[in-house]
Amino acid sequence: MKNKKKIKTTINIITTIILIIGLYFAYQFYQKNNFNEFIRTEANLYTSKFSRDKEEKYSNKRSYKITSPDYNDAMFFKTIQVEKNKPYKVTCMVKTNNVESKGQISGAGAQISIRDSTERSVAISGTQDWQKIELIFNSKDRETVDIGFRLGGYLGQAKGEVWFSDFTIEQGVAEQSKQWNFACFILKQTDVVINEQNIKLEVSSTDISDIKNTMERFKNSAQELSKGKMTVKYDMYEIDTPLTTLSYEKEYGYYASPEDVESQIKEYIKNSNYDHIFIVLRLGNEEYKDEIEINDWIGLGSMDYYGIGFSNIRLPNDSRSYIYKYNTRINTFPEEVFLHEFLHSLERTSEEYGYEVPDLHDYEKYGYVNQRLDGQKLWYTDYMNKNINTETGKIGLPDEVYNLKPAKESNFETSYKLEEFKEPENIIEEIRQIFKQIYTNIQLVFNNKEIQLQ
Ligand SMILES: [Zn+2]
Repeated sequence: MKNKKKIKTTINIITTIILIIGLYFAYQFYQKNNFNEFIRTEANLYTSKFSRDKEEKYSNKRSYKITSPDYNDAMFFKTIQVEKNKPYKVTCMVKTNNVESKGQISGAGAQISIRDSTERSVAISGTQDWQKIELIFNSKDRETVDIGFRLGGYLGQAKGEVWFSDFTIEQGVAEQSKQWNFACFILKQTDVVINEQNIKLEVSSTDISDIKNTMERFKNSAQELSKGKMTVKYDMYEIDTPLTTLSYEKEYGYYASPEDVESQIKEYIKNSNYDHIFIVLRLGNEEYKDEIEINDWIGLGSMDYYGIGFSNIRLPNDSRSYIYKYNTRINTFPEEVFLHEFLHSLERTSEEYGYEVPDLHDYEKYGYVNQRLDGQKLWYTDYMNKNINTETGKIGLPDEVYNLKPAKESNFETSYKLEEFKEPENIIEEIRQIFKQIYTNIQLVFNNKEIQLQ
């Protein structure tokens, strides 16, 4: 009897030990693989590894690690509820090891970004120690956004190792002002290799003075044509660092994307609260007429630099051109290209906020003509004041658009923190988190079933 009891006790002890060891490994496994409420996703499935790392961490919690041995676009994201037309700031700490983007695209790398959109933070590449990065965006017409921590990007894929930690999100206050702050950059040197040919171009002092006059005219015209719905403030920058890369799209040919000029302009943009950026550049002259393929554009817009409106203004190849020169007999509206490109940004913003607006290029459709001296000035005036006549009433830009500014640093002077990225602080919160995840997964399965049944 006594012996039997002893054996039973021993078995009990062994079982308990095995159970504890089992639980310990299960917990270790959980800790290594638990991504809390984040959903993991990748462009090339089963290429990247997602794990929680206790060796390389920024704070006391395990960091979130993505390892991509091959080029991929991998991220973990969370769907966040947002209020419409509110600025948000997401931050995190990031560390990289041998991060390399495919084709050396500067917009791909370790970053914070909104899934299925171009909105992103800076993209970190190479091997860099822990640093803070941030994504500032405006929710516009959206009620939810998927915030992703990513190795890769909307623009391209990347490989290497990245660690993320300490996620925060805060909501700021949208600026209510009709004053628009513009930055106009003149890139004085173009030094690019196109089809194995090195092309060096320069902006002349005449070009610079023409652009300065034109910017001043733009300032007055934007205010005048909008009938005071907006005012303009601007800064001019002459940049000596050459433009060495260009982007290419079949429809337009070569142009300067935000990524091509980031290194030249970022210091001036940082903390300056600009709403729109003009990049003035030369892509040809009398000597190099067709070497840099341009499909007939003089201005290119509708782009954004971290959410800020971004346009190209191309200097004409012909030095005798009057496109940016005021002359009573030749051109009395030389600021037209600047206004046109800026209006593309307002057109895009209106659409992103859910307004229906006519296409900026459709002046002929509504009975407007291109005047010899004044270009499409009448069209822009009616476009900016919602004064285009149609059978169903007046159309054009909504008045509200003049107050819909890109989100920027100054929106966060009084902000409040959201708890969206709060991680479990202790074992009880962790257990609660596990049950929450199980519940979410059951719901996912259940919802899928519902979809299948329809
Ligand atoms: Zn256009």
